[in-house]
Amino acid sequence: MDEVSLAILADWWLKSSCQVVLTGAGISTESGLPDFRSAQGLWKGNDPRRVASISALYENPQDFYEFYRMRCHNLEAALPNKGHEVLANLMKARLLKAIITQNVDGFHQRAGASRVIELHGSLRASRCLSCGKRYGSDVLHESALPKCSSCGGAIRPDVVLFGENLPFEAMRQAEIETKRSDLFVVIGSSLEVSPANYFPIMARDRGAKLVIINIESTVMDEEADLVIHGKSGVLLSSLYDLVKKE
Ligand code: NAD
Repeated sequence: MDEVSLAILADWWLKSSCQVVLTGAGISTESGLPDFRSAQGLWKGNDPRRVASISALYENPQDFYEFYRMRCHNLEAALPNKGHEVLANLMKARLLKAIITQNVDGFHQRAGASRVIELHGSLRASRCLSCGKRYGSDVLHESALPKCSSCGGAIRPDVVLFGENLPFEAMRQAEIETKRSDLFVVIGSSLEVSPANYFPIMARDRGAKLVIINIESTVMDEEADLVIHGKSGVLLSSLYDLVKKE
C-alpha cells in the first residue's frame, strides 16, 4: 500500500472544507458486483448496444430484459462493502459533503450515506414506459417482457441507457456540489463515460485538489494532483483510520 500518498490524502481531507467524491463501478467490485470495463467486467460477454441501449429496449427486448434480470439478481445477493461504509461514516462525521455516483446499485444509501446523487438512475426501481407508474425491480422477474398493471405498457428499469440523456436534476445537483468542492476524489471509475467524467476536470479547474483512487491507471491520471493505486475498500479503510486519528 502507498502509505505516503494515503497520508497526503488524509492531510488534504482534514484541511478541506468541502470534500466530494465521484464513485464508479469499481467501488462495488469488492461486493461481488462486476464493473463494466475490467477483464471480468460486464462488457466482456455482452455488447452494450445489444443489451443496455435505448434501441436494445425496443429492438432486442429479450436480451435487454435478460441482461437487467441478471444484474438485479446479482444485486440481490450482494451487500455494501467497507468502501461504502467508510464513505457513509465520513459523511456522518461531516467530513464528506456529497457522493456523486455512476452506480445504480444503491449501496451508498444502504450503507447509510445521506447525500447521494445518482447520475445513472437506480436498478432498484422500474417504471412504465407509457403511463410512468413506478415499480420496484421485482416486477422485472415476473415475466419475460413485464407489463404495467394499470395500462399494459412495457415496464423498464429506471436506469439511464446508452443513447439517453442523464437526469437533469441529478446533473444540476452534481454540478453544484462539484463547483463547491475543494477536494474532489474519484473512486473506482475508468472515467471513460461522459458526461460523468466532466466533473473531475470541472472541480480541478475551479481550484479543488483532484485525487484518483483506482486499481489501475485511468485516462485522467495526468490531470490529478494525486493518484493512489489499490482496492478502494482497503484504501478507504486505511484512510479512515488516519483521518479519525487526528
Ligand atoms: P468502469 O467499469 O468503466 O470502470 C471501473 C473502474 O474501477 C476500472 O478502472 C477498474 O480498474 C476499477 N476498479 C475495479 N475494481 C476496483 C477496486 N476494488 N478498487 C478500485 N478500483 C477498482 O465503470 P465506471 O467508470 O463506473 O463506468 C460507468 C458505468 O458503469 C456507469 O454507467 C455505471 O452505471 C455502470 N456500472 C455500475 C455498476 C454498479 O452499480 N455497481 C456495475 C457495473 C457498471
